[in-house]
Amino acid sequence: MIDTDIVVIGAGPTGLFTVFEAGLLGMRCHLVDSLTKPGGQCAEIYPNKPIYDIPAYPEIMAGELIDKLLEQIKPFSPGYTLGETAEKLSKSEGKFLITTDKNTQISAKVIAIAGGLGNFEPRKPVIDDLNKFEDNGVQYSIVDPKKFQGKNVVISGGGDSALDWTIVLSEIANKVTLIHRRNQFRGAVDSVNKIQKLKDKNKLDIITPAILKKLNGKNKLESIDVAIDNEIINIPTDYLIPLYGLVPKMDVFKSWGLEIEKNAIKVNNSLDYQTNKEGIYAIGDINYYPGKLKLILSGFHEAAIMCHSAYQIINPGKKNILKYTTVSGISGFDGTKKEPKKTQINSFK
Ligand SMILES: Cc1cc2nc3c(=O)[nH]c(=O)nc-3n(C[C@H](O)[C@H](O)[C@H](O)COP(=O)(O)OP(=O)(O)OC[C@H]3O[C@@H](n4cnc5c(N)ncnc54)[C@H](O)[C@@H]3O)c2cc1C
Repeated sequence: MIDTDIVVIGAGPTGLFTVFEAGLLGMRCHLVDSLTKPGGQCAEIYPNKPIYDIPAYPEIMAGELIDKLLEQIKPFSPGYTLGETAEKLSKSEGKFLITTDKNTQISAKVIAIAGGLGNFEPRKPVIDDLNKFEDNGVQYSIVDPKKFQGKNVVISGGGDSALDWTIVLSEIANKVTLIHRRNQFRGAVDSVNKIQKLKDKNKLDIITPAILKKLNGKNKLESIDVAIDNEIINIPTDYLIPLYGLVPKMDVFKSWGLEIEKNAIKVNNSLDYQTNKEGIYAIGDINYYPGKLKLILSGFHEAAIMCHSAYQIINPGKKNILKYTTVSGISGFDGTKKEPKKTQINSFK
């Protein structure tokens, strides 16, 4: 079992910055995210789009913002449980216990829910026998691309994820076939051009417009049937990876007894972004209060307030004084020290 001060559910920009604010106050964090990489919406939905409203950055790519946040929190050595969804909540002896869908258990006095739109679940194809083949040839995300070495893979979808993984796997798998129900792809033009070039070099196959019709196999996936116009063709394959995007869900947090309003977790914004359950905070896109702005900078601000409140729960009776980092410097848990610099004050004589 993992023991920490604050379990942060969600490794989007808000969750990542929480690690920094908690670290300044000497509190350790463990991040849990259903996705296999940190960054939330910025990394998953729009890594290559520029953002123009991050203070002090006139322009920054969403993916670069996440890289910078990861660099900023490195001294505070957070724990990571990625590719797992925080599912169950219990409490005993003054501590919360979070259990993920893969049975990882994390205990802490405080929970910070920075879950954005809720946990993302893959949008699945509507097709018979799908669950028979899930994790048995059919999968919705790629954790380790090396797994596909020497295998035949069909990727289904027309967005950035489908295009990006087709490009990556064309260098690794024995054969990659990209199928899509339309002739046009939705992904970046650059990726579409790359895919076309790879096809011209016989590095992959593209079949469009193709509709997934049937999964075949005895104990595991062996082939799929797709409809092209009025014809059904059979494609032998070891894997089918439908990449149709992600659907946000709030069910987990509802089941924890948290008050929900406007499909978000209701918090006390006049004080500290605590939910109706003491010790459980909700920050960033996941929370609701009158006047809420779903912006990255709101999440950063809420993380700072929340950590100062959580300090009192984690260190009862201890006084917490707000210190500027220019004065306190940074003392990382990994031994990093950033000393405050003495500034030259020019006084008038
Ligand atoms: C296309 C697009 C453009 C945008 N442009 C801007 C912009 O220009 N400026 C701006 O300020 N904002 C912009 N936004 C909004 C911004 O991305 C969000 O405000 C921000 O991502 C919220 O951060 P967050 O950390 O609160 O949540 P998210 O980024 O949504 O991260 C939440 C994370 O929590 C995880 N999670 C949820 N539930 C669970 C669970 N039960 N267990 C484990 N993990 C869980 C999710 O998998 C996710 O990774 C844009 C959004 C989109 C989609």
